[in-house]
Amino acid sequence: MVESGKKTQIVVVGGGAAGLELATRLGAHFGREKFDIILVEKNRTHIWKPLLHEVAAGSLDANLDEVGYRSHCHRWGYRYFYGQLEGIDRDSRHVLIAPIRDEDGREIMGRHRIRYDYLVVAVGSVSNDFGTKGVAEHCLFLDSRVQADRFRAQLLNHCLRVSRTLQNDPDADATVRVDIVGGGATGVELAAELFNAAAALRHYGLEVFDESRLKVTLIEAGPRILPMLPENLADAARAELETLGVRVLTGTPVVEANAQGMVTASGELIGADLKVWAAGVKAPEILKDIGGLETGRGNQLVVRPTLQTTRDDRIFAIGDCCQCVCPGETRPVPPRAQAAHQMAATCFANIRAMIAGRPLKDFHYHDHGSLVSLSRFSTVGSLMGNLVGGRMAIEGRLARFVYLSLYRMHLIAIHGWLKGLALIAVGHVNQIVRPRLKLH
Ligand SMILES: Cc1cc2nc3c(=O)[nH]c(=O)nc-3n(C[C@H](O)[C@H](O)[C@H](O)COP(=O)(O)OP(=O)(O)OC[C@H]3O[C@@H](n4cnc5c(N)ncnc54)[C@H](O)[C@@H]3O)c2cc1C
Repeated sequence: MVESGKKTQIVVVGGGAAGLELATRLGAHFGREKFDIILVEKNRTHIWKPLLHEVAAGSLDANLDEVGYRSHCHRWGYRYFYGQLEGIDRDSRHVLIAPIRDEDGREIMGRHRIRYDYLVVAVGSVSNDFGTKGVAEHCLFLDSRVQADRFRAQLLNHCLRVSRTLQNDPDADATVRVDIVGGGATGVELAAELFNAAAALRHYGLEVFDESRLKVTLIEAGPRILPMLPENLADAARAELETLGVRVLTGTPVVEANAQGMVTASGELIGADLKVWAAGVKAPEILKDIGGLETGRGNQLVVRPTLQTTRDDRIFAIGDCCQCVCPGETRPVPPRAQAAHQMAATCFANIRAMIAGRPLKDFHYHDHGSLVSLSRFSTVGSLMGNLVGGRMAIEGRLARFVYLSLYRMHLIAIHGWLKGLALIAVGHVNQIVRPRLKLH
């Protein structure tokens, strides 16, 4: 049991884009004297999720960008508890943490209970396979660093196999085939990043391998890719992908994944060495009916505009795992990094208000637009500009700059201005001095 006398305990579960920003602000604001801010997280390090497709392709070394929770909490005045949420006891106000096991399954620490005065659930989302046959067994996902690393290891093995085959027989029909299901930002960005990585491989010992050996098929059930972007920008992204060599299929639902590849509704088998599922997200299964709280579509905790759960004022939910409809809107806030960032700020203000006995404010989502990075080849997107009074399409360097600024804002939110700016500068230096690919 994690207790600390009469201190007010604020527990944040999930140290991702939303939860880590919130725990940082709570720790910095409330300090350790009268408050105990506890972050419960099932991983030991944090990597900003929108970087995962770059980690998967090898164009980003996650070791350089990840944040260790232990050192971070020491700096920012919160406590980090390594563990996985498995339940909420609302009567006694405790969160239940599953037993912690080592890699061999041996129990290191038994089941735990952590008392809370205020609880924030920020456990994010996982890929949704919509129950499609064979997907869980045969596909890779990009939900975590471990999964991105697994993808990269398998990709490199296949590139090595093709490279060896070509060394022995330069005319061999040897390729690495990758099927990506889902034409949203994750699928599109991964497809482009793979070509960036493949082009760099020949500089690192795979001399006979080049991007023409990469066969990527992007499969989308809907009528077009990137539905969140205006049609002309989505068309531009599609044209860019096709120029790279990506086969883009739209209006093509996948009904099964098997060891050979993806089976479409028309019965076609699209063969693949690597299969990636990136066709939508849902909140983790554990949230379903957790603590008797109201859950909506895809296990999301339903919250009021104040981000408090509908059945418990002391429990907030933020980020991908909550279903929030803002005042005057009909559709829920989308599962996006910018929404997570904004919700962390509102939740912080509302917890302060609640403690001070002031009224809470409603969350209003400010959609600053959507940007999709086609690796070094292009960036496309649209900005919702107050200045331009509507949606403004942007491409190229400006779009790349705005795309990167979302991550920079996250860095500043979790490290403060000084260290955040220093890390941004270090990132630029690393681009020059470090290898272009992570090869192990
Ligand atoms: C490849 C990829 C690219 C993306 N690109 C973009 C983009 O360009 N722009 C954009 O706006 N959004 C993008 N997104 C979406 C964005 O990453 C998410 O919307 C954002 O990370 C949500 O933040 P979050 O804090 O809710 O969840 P997360 O950042 O996922 O954090 C959730 C945290 O909770 C922890 N956790 C989960 N379950 C438990 C548990 N039971 N107990 C304890 N801890 C737990 C996880 O380990 C994780 O650290 C992308 C996502 C992916 C996968």
